[in-house]
Amino acid sequence: MKFTEDEIRPDNLMPEQAERFASDIRRLLKRKSEFIHVPCPACGSDEAEPLFIKFELSYVKCRTCTTFYINPRPTPEILELYYETSENYIYWNQYIFPAVEVARREKIFRPRAERLLALCRSEGVSQGTFVEVGAGFGTFCEEVIRLEYFRRVIAVEPTPDLAATCRRKGLEVIDKPVEQLSLGVDAVDAIASFEVIEHLFSPKEFLAACAKMLKVGGALILSCPNGQGFDVAVLGTTSDTVDVEHLNYFNPASLSRLVEASGFTVLEVITPGELDAELVRKKALQGLFDLSGQPFLHRVLLEEWERLGEPFQRFLADNLLSSHMWLVARKEKRQGES
Ligand SMILES: [Zn+2]
Repeated sequence: MKFTEDEIRPDNLMPEQAERFASDIRRLLKRKSEFIHVPCPACGSDEAEPLFIKFELSYVKCRTCTTFYINPRPTPEILELYYETSENYIYWNQYIFPAVEVARREKIFRPRAERLLALCRSEGVSQGTFVEVGAGFGTFCEEVIRLEYFRRVIAVEPTPDLAATCRRKGLEVIDKPVEQLSLGVDAVDAIASFEVIEHLFSPKEFLAACAKMLKVGGALILSCPNGQGFDVAVLGTTSDTVDVEHLNYFNPASLSRLVEASGFTVLEVITPGELDAELVRKKALQGLFDLSGQPFLHRVLLEEWERLGEPFQRFLADNLLSSHMWLVARKEKRQGES
Protein backbone atom coordinates (compact mmCIF):
# COMPACT_ATOMS: atom_id res chain seq x y z
CA MET A 1 0.00 0.00 0.00
CA LYS A 2 1.46 3.36 -1.06
CA PHE A 3 2.14 6.00 1.56
CA THR A 4 4.11 9.21 1.84
CA GLU A 5 6.58 10.32 4.46
CA ASP A 6 4.21 13.04 5.73
CA GLU A 7 1.65 10.37 6.67
CA ILE A 8 4.03 8.61 9.05
CA ARG A 9 6.27 11.55 10.06
CA PRO A 10 4.05 14.66 9.82
CA ASP A 11 5.85 17.70 8.42
CA ASN A 12 4.24 20.01 11.01
CA LEU A 13 5.45 17.97 14.02
CA MET A 14 8.96 17.13 12.87
CA PRO A 15 10.69 20.48 13.64
CA GLU A 16 9.85 20.14 17.36
CA GLN A 17 10.88 16.49 17.22
CA ALA A 18 14.19 17.55 15.67
CA GLU A 19 14.84 19.87 18.64
CA ARG A 20 14.12 17.13 21.17
CA PHE A 21 16.34 14.75 19.27
CA ALA A 22 19.16 17.33 19.10
CA SER A 23 18.93 17.69 22.86
CA ASP A 24 19.16 13.90 23.30
CA ILE A 25 22.18 13.84 21.01
CA ARG A 26 23.94 16.58 23.03
CA ARG A 27 23.43 14.55 26.21
CA LEU A 28 24.76 11.43 24.54
CA LEU A 29 27.84 13.19 23.18
CA LYS A 30 28.75 14.50 26.64
CA ARG A 31 29.81 10.93 27.43
CA LYS A 32 31.78 10.45 24.23
CA SER A 33 35.02 9.85 26.13
CA GLU A 34 33.47 6.69 27.61
CA PHE A 35 32.53 5.18 24.21
CA ILE A 36 34.24 1.88 23.43
CA HIS A 37 35.75 0.18 20.43
CA VAL A 38 33.99 -2.87 18.93
CA PRO A 39 34.69 -5.26 16.05
CA CYS A 40 32.23 -5.52 13.14
CA PRO A 41 28.77 -6.21 14.60
CA ALA A 42 27.94 -8.52 11.68
CA CYS A 43 31.03 -10.66 11.05
CA GLY A 44 33.34 -9.92 13.99
CA SER A 45 36.23 -8.75 11.80
CA ASP A 46 38.35 -5.91 13.13
CA GLU A 47 39.43 -4.74 9.67
CA ALA A 48 37.52 -1.54 9.04
CA GLU A 49 38.15 1.69 7.20
CA PRO A 50 36.89 5.18 8.08
CA LEU A 51 33.70 6.04 6.17
CA PHE A 52 32.53 9.42 7.46
CA ILE A 53 31.94 11.55 10.52
CA LYS A 54 28.47 12.71 11.56
CA PHE A 55 27.37 14.21 14.90
CA GLU A 56 31.07 14.06 15.86
CA LEU A 57 30.85 10.26 15.67
CA SER A 58 32.96 8.13 13.41
CA TYR A 59 31.32 5.62 11.09
CA VAL A 60 33.56 2.86 9.81
CA LYS A 61 33.03 0.26 7.10
CA CYS A 62 33.96 -3.41 7.52
CA ARG A 63 36.41 -4.55 4.84
CA THR A 64 35.08 -8.11 5.06
CA CYS A 65 31.29 -7.69 4.88
CA THR A 66 30.79 -3.94 4.09
CA THR A 67 28.53 -3.41 7.10
CA PHE A 68 29.14 0.08 8.41
CA TYR A 69 28.86 1.04 12.04
CA ILE A 70 29.54 3.64 14.68
CA ASN A 71 32.89 2.95 16.28
CA PRO A 72 33.75 3.70 19.06
CA ARG A 73 30.17 3.52 20.37
CA PRO A 74 28.21 4.14 23.58
CA THR A 75 28.35 1.32 26.13
CA PRO A 76 25.19 -0.70 26.94
CA GLU A 77 24.87 1.27 30.22
CA ILE A 78 25.01 4.63 28.43
CA LEU A 79 22.46 3.43 25.87
CA GLU A 80 20.08 2.18 28.55
CA LEU A 81 20.13 5.58 30.25
CA TYR A 82 19.79 7.34 26.89
CA TYR A 83 16.53 5.56 26.04
CA GLU A 84 15.18 5.80 29.59
CA THR A 85 15.59 9.57 29.58
CA SER A 86 15.05 10.39 25.89
CA GLU A 87 12.99 13.57 25.29
CA ASN A 88 12.53 12.50 21.68
CA TYR A 89 10.63 9.32 22.59
CA ILE A 90 8.42 11.20 25.06
CA TYR A 91 7.50 13.53 22.19
CA TRP A 92 6.82 10.66 19.77
CA ASN A 93 4.63 9.00 22.40
CA GLN A 94 2.70 12.18 23.23
CA TYR A 95 2.31 13.82 19.85
CA ILE A 96 3.58 12.01 16.78
CA PHE A 97 2.35 8.45 17.33
CA PRO A 98 -1.18 9.59 18.33
CA ALA A 99 -1.36 11.87 15.25
CA VAL A 100 -0.30 9.18 12.81
CA GLU A 101 -1.60 6.03 14.45
CA VAL A 102 -4.47 5.50 12.02
CA ALA A 103 -2.21 5.86 8.98
CA ARG A 104 0.54 3.75 10.53
CA ARG A 105 -1.93 1.07 11.55
CA GLU A 106 -3.49 0.79 8.09
CA LYS A 107 -0.45 1.28 5.93
CA ILE A 108 2.34 -0.25 7.99
CA PHE A 109 1.21 -2.43 10.89
CA ARG A 110 -1.83 -4.21 9.44
CA PRO A 111 0.05 -5.33 6.30
CA ARG A 112 2.97 -6.34 8.52
CA ALA A 113 0.70 -8.41 10.78
CA GLU A 114 -0.87 -10.04 7.75
CA ARG A 115 2.56 -10.83 6.34
CA LEU A 116 3.51 -12.37 9.71
CA LEU A 117 0.34 -14.45 9.72
CA ALA A 118 0.91 -15.73 6.17
CA LEU A 119 4.46 -16.62 7.08
CA CYS A 120 3.48 -18.45 10.27
CA ARG A 121 0.85 -20.43 8.36
CA SER A 122 3.18 -21.38 5.52
CA GLU A 123 5.98 -22.35 7.91
CA GLY A 124 3.65 -24.16 10.30
CA VAL A 125 4.67 -22.00 13.28
CA SER A 126 2.78 -23.16 16.36
CA GLN A 127 0.17 -20.83 17.80
CA GLY A 128 1.45 -20.36 21.35
CA THR A 129 3.40 -17.22 22.22
CA PHE A 130 4.37 -14.25 20.09
CA VAL A 131 6.83 -11.60 21.28
CA GLU A 132 7.43 -8.21 19.71
CA VAL A 133 10.75 -6.70 20.77
CA GLY A 134 10.57 -2.91 20.62
CA ALA A 135 6.78 -2.68 20.63
CA GLY A 136 6.77 1.14 20.65
CA PHE A 137 3.22 2.48 20.64
CA GLY A 138 1.81 -1.07 20.68
CA THR A 139 -0.02 -0.84 17.36
CA PHE A 140 1.59 -3.89 15.80
CA CYS A 141 0.80 -6.08 18.83
CA GLU A 142 -2.81 -4.92 18.67
CA GLU A 143 -2.96 -5.98 15.03
CA VAL A 144 -1.42 -9.37 15.84
CA ILE A 145 -4.01 -9.93 18.59
CA ARG A 146 -6.77 -9.00 16.15
CA LEU A 147 -5.69 -11.81 13.81
CA GLU A 148 -6.26 -14.37 16.60
CA TYR A 149 -3.39 -16.64 15.60
CA PHE A 150 -1.35 -16.61 18.80
CA ARG A 151 -2.76 -17.43 22.22
CA ARG A 152 -0.38 -15.05 23.99
CA VAL A 153 1.11 -11.78 22.68
CA ILE A 154 3.87 -10.05 24.63
CA ALA A 155 5.09 -6.49 24.00
CA VAL A 156 8.71 -5.94 25.02
CA GLU A 157 9.34 -2.21 25.32
CA PRO A 158 12.04 -0.77 27.61
CA THR A 159 11.28 2.95 26.99
CA PRO A 160 9.09 3.94 29.99
CA ASP A 161 6.52 6.21 28.29
CA LEU A 162 6.01 3.82 25.41
CA ALA A 163 5.71 0.85 27.80
CA ALA A 164 3.03 2.83 29.69
CA THR A 165 1.10 3.36 26.44
CA CYS A 166 1.26 -0.37 25.66
CA ARG A 167 -0.10 -1.12 29.16
CA ARG A 168 -2.92 1.41 28.73
CA LYS A 169 -3.88 -0.48 25.58
CA GLY A 170 -4.24 -3.63 27.68
CA LEU A 171 -1.18 -5.37 26.26
CA GLU A 172 1.00 -7.71 28.27
CA VAL A 173 4.20 -5.66 28.59
CA ILE A 174 7.73 -6.43 29.68
CA ASP A 175 9.72 -3.23 30.09
CA LYS A 176 13.23 -4.70 29.87
CA PRO A 177 15.80 -4.92 27.10
CA VAL A 178 15.55 -8.30 25.37
CA GLU A 179 18.93 -9.43 26.64
CA GLN A 180 17.48 -9.25 30.19
CA LEU A 181 14.27 -11.13 29.45
CA SER A 182 13.58 -14.29 31.39
CA LEU A 183 10.75 -15.95 29.48
CA GLY A 184 12.58 -19.25 29.67
CA VAL A 185 14.19 -21.50 27.12
CA ASP A 186 12.10 -22.66 24.13
CA ALA A 187 9.15 -20.63 25.40
CA VAL A 188 8.27 -18.59 22.33
CA ASP A 189 6.89 -19.49 18.88
CA ALA A 190 7.62 -16.29 16.98
CA ILE A 191 9.54 -13.06 17.54
CA ALA A 192 9.25 -9.88 15.51
CA SER A 193 11.47 -6.88 15.95
CA PHE A 194 11.08 -3.85 13.70
CA GLU A 195 13.79 -1.18 13.57
CA VAL A 196 15.52 -2.35 16.74
CA ILE A 197 18.66 -4.27 15.81
CA GLU A 198 20.34 -1.19 14.31
CA HIS A 199 20.10 0.51 17.72
CA LEU A 200 21.80 -2.24 19.70
CA PHE A 201 25.28 -2.30 21.16
CA SER A 202 25.53 -6.02 20.43
CA PRO A 203 23.20 -7.43 17.74
CA LYS A 204 24.90 -10.78 18.31
CA GLU A 205 23.80 -10.94 21.96
CA PHE A 206 20.32 -9.87 20.94
CA LEU A 207 20.08 -12.71 18.41
CA ALA A 208 21.45 -15.18 20.96
CA ALA A 209 18.71 -14.09 23.38
CA CYS A 210 16.09 -14.54 20.62
CA ALA A 211 17.46 -17.98 19.72
CA LYS A 212 17.34 -19.06 23.37
CA MET A 213 13.71 -18.02 23.84
CA LEU A 214 12.45 -19.50 20.57
CA LYS A 215 11.35 -23.06 20.09
CA VAL A 216 13.04 -25.07 17.36
CA GLY A 217 11.19 -24.20 14.16
CA GLY A 218 10.10 -20.85 15.63
CA ALA A 219 10.13 -17.77 13.43
CA LEU A 220 12.18 -14.60 13.68
CA ILE A 221 11.23 -11.50 11.69
CA LEU A 222 13.54 -8.50 11.69
CA SER A 223 13.45 -5.20 9.89
CA CYS A 224 16.20 -2.57 9.84
CA PRO A 225 17.95 -0.16 7.50
CA ASN A 226 19.87 -1.60 4.56
CA GLY A 227 23.22 0.20 4.50
CA GLN A 228 23.46 -0.50 0.77
CA GLY A 229 20.00 0.92 0.05
CA PHE A 230 19.27 3.84 -2.21
CA ASP A 231 18.72 6.75 0.17
CA VAL A 232 21.69 5.81 2.36
CA ALA A 233 24.00 5.13 -0.61
CA VAL A 234 23.05 8.34 -2.41
CA LEU A 235 22.72 10.75 0.51
CA GLY A 236 25.46 9.43 2.80
CA THR A 237 25.67 11.66 5.90
CA THR A 238 22.69 13.71 4.63
CA SER A 239 20.41 10.66 5.01
CA ASP A 240 18.21 10.80 8.12
CA THR A 241 18.70 7.05 8.36
CA VAL A 242 22.29 7.80 9.34
CA ASP A 243 21.72 8.95 12.92
CA VAL A 244 23.33 8.58 16.33
CA GLU A 245 20.87 5.94 17.49
CA HIS A 246 21.60 3.71 14.54
CA LEU A 247 24.85 2.04 15.49
CA ASN A 248 24.70 -0.76 12.86
CA TYR A 249 24.06 -0.55 9.09
CA PHE A 250 23.78 -4.11 7.85
CA ASN A 251 23.13 -5.18 4.27
CA PRO A 252 21.19 -8.22 3.04
CA ALA A 253 24.28 -10.46 2.94
CA SER A 254 25.85 -9.34 6.22
CA LEU A 255 22.62 -9.54 8.23
CA SER A 256 21.94 -13.01 6.79
CA ARG A 257 25.40 -14.11 7.78
CA LEU A 258 24.98 -12.89 11.35
CA VAL A 259 21.53 -14.44 11.74
CA GLU A 260 22.76 -17.78 10.34
CA ALA A 261 25.70 -17.73 12.73
CA SER A 262 23.23 -17.27 15.60
CA GLY A 263 21.48 -20.60 14.99
CA PHE A 264 18.90 -19.69 12.36
CA THR A 265 18.18 -20.56 8.74
CA VAL A 266 17.37 -17.43 6.75
CA LEU A 267 14.19 -17.97 4.72
CA GLU A 268 14.07 -14.63 2.94
CA VAL A 269 15.54 -11.15 2.80
CA ILE A 270 13.54 -8.46 1.03
CA THR A 271 13.63 -4.67 0.84
CA PRO A 272 9.97 -3.62 0.76
CA GLY A 273 10.77 0.08 1.35
CA GLU A 274 8.52 2.72 -0.17
CA LEU A 275 10.25 5.96 0.65
CA ASP A 276 13.84 5.96 -0.71
CA ALA A 277 13.16 7.99 -3.86
CA GLU A 278 10.93 10.42 -1.99
CA LEU A 279 13.52 10.92 0.76
CA VAL A 280 16.25 11.81 -1.74
CA ARG A 281 13.84 14.02 -3.70
CA LYS A 282 12.86 15.87 -0.52
CA LYS A 283 16.48 16.57 0.43
CA ALA A 284 17.06 17.96 -3.07
CA LEU A 285 13.93 20.14 -2.91
CA GLN A 286 14.97 21.42 0.52
CA GLY A 287 18.35 22.40 -0.88
CA LEU A 288 20.10 19.93 1.44
CA PHE A 289 21.38 17.73 -1.36
CA ASP A 290 22.64 18.86 -4.75
CA LEU A 291 21.42 16.86 -7.74
CA SER A 292 22.68 19.34 -10.35
CA GLY A 293 25.75 17.24 -11.12
CA GLN A 294 23.65 14.07 -11.44
CA PRO A 295 21.44 14.48 -14.53
CA PHE A 296 20.01 10.97 -14.33
CA LEU A 297 18.76 11.32 -10.74
CA HIS A 298 17.73 14.92 -11.46
CA ARG A 299 15.47 13.65 -14.20
CA VAL A 300 13.95 10.72 -12.27
CA LEU A 301 13.48 12.49 -8.94
CA LEU A 302 12.63 16.03 -10.07
CA GLU A 303 11.87 16.62 -13.75
CA GLU A 304 9.83 13.47 -14.39
CA TRP A 305 8.87 12.55 -10.82
CA GLU A 306 5.16 12.08 -11.62
CA ARG A 307 5.95 9.51 -14.29
CA LEU A 308 9.07 7.83 -12.94
CA GLY A 309 8.93 8.16 -9.14
CA GLU A 310 6.72 5.19 -8.40
CA PRO A 311 8.18 2.67 -10.89
CA PHE A 312 11.67 3.71 -9.83
CA GLN A 313 10.84 3.05 -6.18
CA ARG A 314 9.31 -0.29 -7.11
CA PHE A 315 12.50 -1.21 -8.98
CA LEU A 316 14.55 -0.40 -5.86
CA ALA A 317 12.24 -2.40 -3.60
CA ASP A 318 12.18 -5.42 -5.92
CA ASN A 319 15.96 -5.64 -6.28
CA LEU A 320 17.25 -5.42 -2.67
CA LEU A 321 18.07 -1.76 -3.29
CA SER A 322 15.75 -0.05 -0.83
CA SER A 323 17.14 1.17 2.49
CA HIS A 324 14.35 -0.61 4.39
CA MET A 325 15.07 -4.33 4.78
CA TRP A 326 13.24 -7.36 6.17
CA LEU A 327 14.67 -10.70 7.12
CA VAL A 328 12.72 -13.82 8.00
CA ALA A 329 14.43 -16.79 9.64
CA ARG A 330 13.64 -20.05 11.37
CA LYS A 331 15.40 -21.36 14.43
CA GLU A 332 17.33 -24.54 13.78
CA LYS A 333 18.10 -27.43 16.09
CA ARG A 334 20.98 -26.77 18.41
CA GLN A 335 24.21 -28.45 17.47
CA GLY A 336 24.36 -31.97 18.85
CA GLU A 337 20.57 -32.40 18.80
CA SER A 338 19.04 -34.92 16.48
ZN1 LIG B 1 31.96 -7.31 8.89
